[in-house]
Amino acid sequence: MTVQIDHALEEIRRFRPSPEFAANAVADTSLAEAAEADRLGFWADQSRELLTWSKPFTKTLDWSNPPFAKWFEDGELNVAVNCLDRHVEAGNGDRVALHWVGEPGDTRDITYAELTDEVKRAANVLTELGVGSGDRVAIYLPMIPEAVVSMLAVARIGAIHSVVFGGFSADSLASRIDDAEASLVITADGGYRKGKVFPLKPVVDEAITKSVAGSVRNVLVVRRGENEVAWNDHDLWWHDTVGTASNEHEAAGFEAEHPLFILYTSGTTGKPKGILHTSGGYLTQAAFTHRNVFDLHPETDVYWCTADVGWITGHSYVVYGPLANGATQVLYEGTPDTPHPGRWWEIIEQYKVSILYTAPTAIRSFMKLGRQIPHEFNLRSLRLLGSVGEPINPEAWIWYRHVIGGGSIPVVDTWWQTETGAIMISALPGITDLKPGSAQVAIPGISIDILSDDGTSVEGEGGGLLVVTEPWPSMLRGIWGDPERFKETYWEKFGDKYFAGDGARRDADGDIWLLGRVDDVMNVSGHRLSTAEIESSLVAHPWTAEAAVVGAADETTGQAVVAFVILKASQAERVTDVQAASDELRKHVATQIGAIARPRQVFIVNELPKTRSGKIMRRLLRDLAEGRDIGDTTTLADTSIMQTISDQVK
Ligand code: ATP
Ligand code: MG
Repeated sequence: MTVQIDHALEEIRRFRPSPEFAANAVADTSLAEAAEADRLGFWADQSRELLTWSKPFTKTLDWSNPPFAKWFEDGELNVAVNCLDRHVEAGNGDRVALHWVGEPGDTRDITYAELTDEVKRAANVLTELGVGSGDRVAIYLPMIPEAVVSMLAVARIGAIHSVVFGGFSADSLASRIDDAEASLVITADGGYRKGKVFPLKPVVDEAITKSVAGSVRNVLVVRRGENEVAWNDHDLWWHDTVGTASNEHEAAGFEAEHPLFILYTSGTTGKPKGILHTSGGYLTQAAFTHRNVFDLHPETDVYWCTADVGWITGHSYVVYGPLANGATQVLYEGTPDTPHPGRWWEIIEQYKVSILYTAPTAIRSFMKLGRQIPHEFNLRSLRLLGSVGEPINPEAWIWYRHVIGGGSIPVVDTWWQTETGAIMISALPGITDLKPGSAQVAIPGISIDILSDDGTSVEGEGGGLLVVTEPWPSMLRGIWGDPERFKETYWEKFGDKYFAGDGARRDADGDIWLLGRVDDVMNVSGHRLSTAEIESSLVAHPWTAEAAVVGAADETTGQAVVAFVILKASQAERVTDVQAASDELRKHVATQIGAIARPRQVFIVNELPKTRSGKIMRRLLRDLAEGRDIGDTTTLADTSIMQTISDQVK
């Protein structure tokens, strides 16, 4: 099998940084130069500059036993102190850390001093409950300040958190509690979503009943939904305990390699993996990338990352990166369309958000609704936009920059994974000329290559497998409880080079384009085609809001391209002849990319199957296209969707 992926889609638009932006940019070219000259020295310098170590490290990296890396091994630090106390001590206690917005419209502004206080109280409660260094705590909360407080309180006492997204079922929660043998669960009575209270505590009760490990000793419950909840002996109210605890708490330093958290991957391709991250290296790279990729000016910026804390983006770019850097940020509890479809834009206007970090799935859903909604709000405070989670189609990038960003501000497309812990590939605003659809360059200090199956570097512009060739500070340290799966999944293929599982190519300028997951690459008459490129071509058609492409078995071509397309709302009314629309889109791809990429079928649908973090699950569409029973749908956000799509396709 050859893994060369054929490259088809051309994108020639380029955007230079404006001179004004460049003049005030945090990042400059000296970063890359320093990393180039001495990679390990560069990371050591960044770590010393960005973090406060209670015991300075003298060693930077131990890679004598790959794939098990140790960064800053002999140093000690407290992650929570780095995110809180030191900002208060530096005189920034009055700075707002969180502008929290509840879905029903209630708000709280929490300063660094207040957040520090609350975390100290919570840390005291955890200790009283017998949670100690290395113990696991499951956190199952809505997007409320207590989620951030809980994570930092766990980190403060050297325990390990496992945040489970609040939309997961009792079974998913039970399997995560069991996998980590959590002794405490922190939850809420309920949270707000789409105008209603969704209950959380009953799910925890059910999960504990289903748990086979029997490890949970207590459940700490935040009152949020005010819904009725059943009460067990092991349950405690947050306000009765944290609310009355002492705010005096002496934080100990922990070794750099002390575990910080376990987090399960999104489950786009299969069973989620419990990814383990540790302290010093993780915080270094989270802080470094947050500062340089988002051009953070902590005194003046208002930053908003829309990810849930249940995902890695919420860990690194809601909690650890921004708070380590002393940023002021928005935290929003609810959905983008409640109580009206302009809710996000209203929040940006109200808090004068200057940096917005979100996912292509959200951008495409706004594209579907049309530009008149964001245009009702004043979005001029925005000065930088970021994207993460999936390849952003060039047309969605352009829409984001123009409609949301007003046409002249940088958009950074950031490639990374739960496993990488922090951003690995991204433009640096103010330095890099931007290309819509490309994640562009490895950040300083990160070594990326594109390999063919035999491990040789792909020359020229062909596509291959994305690898990280050198260990990096925020790399995963393992899969919880499963070192074999860790080695097999990421290291078996290329030895001490990390295999990411994504396809990518480099263009003539050396910029990197993500082509989709390697498992999803299609082979049509011997041509290996990328899902991302054909989807981007479909999204470039004025009718299309979103597209998913899969390869389905085909008697003549081996595999054939099958596309599922959601039309923009403005078009959906106009398109009455579905067959004609589908022919038009097939022709469009053939013209734009070439006849080889012309979809055998284009199905017009209203929904696509997505994980709870909004990623398209192509394997389910492949099942549908090949007429098989639909596979495992447990990580799907809405399990009824596959039925709806399959009805539409028939
Ligand atoms: P699982 O590993 O369980 O299947 P997952 O890979 O979706 O789930 P995450 O760690 O949340 O879990 O997602 C990382 C993946 O998301 C990357 O491997 C890549 O496929 C995709 N991705 C993230 N950011 C980008 C980006 N900027 N461009 C292209 N793809 C991206
Ligand atoms: Mg993955």
